[in-house]
Amino acid sequence: NSFLDLHLSRPLLRACEALGYSKPTPIQAACIPLALTGRDICGSAITGSGKTAAFALPTLERLLYRPKNRPAIRVLILTPTRELAVQVLSMIQKLAQFMTDIRCCLVVGGLSLKEQEAALRSLPDIVVATPGRMIDHLRNSMSVHLDELAVLILDEADRLLEQGFSAELHELVKLCPKRRQTMLFSATMTEEVDDLIKLSLNKPLRLSA
Ligand code: AMP
Repeated sequence: NSFLDLHLSRPLLRACEALGYSKPTPIQAACIPLALTGRDICGSAITGSGKTAAFALPTLERLLYRPKNRPAIRVLILTPTRELAVQVLSMIQKLAQFMTDIRCCLVVGGLSLKEQEAALRSLPDIVVATPGRMIDHLRNSMSVHLDELAVLILDEADRLLEQGFSAELHELVKLCPKRRQTMLFSATMTEEVDDLIKLSLNKPLRLSA
């Protein structure tokens, strides 16, 4: 029960060490090896379980092997609120601190649309967004698209739906390539979450912690 057993590369193991993580939490121990196989994941996990690193570490591992000469938005993380988006972005930056050239971008309401669009056009590897603002960019800018997306993460799916983002989520999922990895996390599994799972996940592995 150590991070060394999880098949992560050195830059990520170093980051866990620097953050003082001595061993993986249960959701991390369950999720990371499965996520590294590329399968879709559906996780019941609450805030405080370590779920952010559970999806961020295997996603960053995957980005280590991305084609560097073809920049593109490869990872989209959707969160229900601006505050959560900021927290997730900050966690990712800490976990990616020993990786070179990973670029992240925050896309949430309340920030300048123009600046965000410029950031998206520069093709960051990872976008952390709230659904409403992300859809605005995809609808209104010819040059912002998700055609090269490899990983879609739906964080706090129950709250995403409670915030009334169902239509935006359906639209966003349709704009992602069919061939991708999707991970969905939710504290509760409601009927609406189940519909979102059916829409967005392909033969998901179910985990709970
Ligand atoms: P989360 O559930 O993702 O919101 O994470 C809750 C808190 O747990 C965050 O402050 C993380 O930095 C911390 N955390 C995540 N993974 C570990 C770990 N393996 N060991 C100790 N703390 C962790």
